[in-house]
Amino acid sequence: MLCLALVCAFTGCGLEPKVPTEEPAGDPPVASTAAPTVQPTPTVVQIPTETATPDPYGHEVLGESWEGRPVVGHRFGTGPRKVVLVGNIHGGTEKNTHQLALEMIAYFEKDLDNVPPEVTLWIIPTANPDGLANGTRGNGHLVDLNRNADTDGDACAENDWVKDTHTTEGINEGGGGPEPFSEVETQLLRDFVEDAEVAIFYHSMAGMIFVTSCADHVASERLARRLSEATGYPFAAEGWVSYPVTGAIVDYLAQQGVAAAEVELETKVDSEFDRNLAGVRAVLQSLDQIASSP
Ligand SMILES: [Zn+2]
Repeated sequence: MLCLALVCAFTGCGLEPKVPTEEPAGDPPVASTAAPTVQPTPTVVQIPTETATPDPYGHEVLGESWEGRPVVGHRFGTGPRKVVLVGNIHGGTEKNTHQLALEMIAYFEKDLDNVPPEVTLWIIPTANPDGLANGTRGNGHLVDLNRNADTDGDACAENDWVKDTHTTEGINEGGGGPEPFSEVETQLLRDFVEDAEVAIFYHSMAGMIFVTSCADHVASERLARRLSEATGYPFAAEGWVSYPVTGAIVDYLAQQGVAAAEVELETKVDSEFDRNLAGVRAVLQSLDQIASSP
């Protein structure tokens, strides 16, 4: 039971597709054919004196799963520092992490003052709505979304993406997907989260906190230690030792400079809300210490 729970350690997410907006090309320059005889009237540029105040709360569909279910992000605040919580990536086998995220959303809807003004907090209740609906750990293709990231770019080889992944029960053939980021859900997570300062992913039920198994990212370790102090879950600095964890989203995000950690709840039943709220609030008050370089 414990072993099965421990398999779950690791995740990632990101959503808002960033469609670059390009400036329209505008009119082509017209060559001047004659010197002006009259002084041109200076163009007056209208500078708006008022801009609309952004709504402090909103939610948006970040994308769709393979089976067409929406992946939704709930936003709290409008500050420049992006913090993302992903409630559930391992679907129906870790339902209580989804419940935790829903309770977090309800809390911050009532207590938006707990989001510092410089922060935008995003909460994604589930990055794996198909697995949640179908009762599976994997997505609609039975790919493990926390084994599907491209983790080949860091300093260690042990966590590199592989097609057939390790589990407590042995090898899960095809668990990593046909190639890194083959799944729409992991693509969406990658694109949404990789510009965040902090990302936290919830799992159950190892009762520990993990970061990249490459153990080479100081900001992620600082995040994990802060979370551990506030929640009481121990930080497993040595990582998951029973078998290689490959293609985990926190490993990918650490490569990108995002402070990323996984919180494993202690059971598969309760949301363990109070201690996890304490963890999130501690992190929101500690961004300068966590995210400072290196
Ligand atoms: Zn998990």
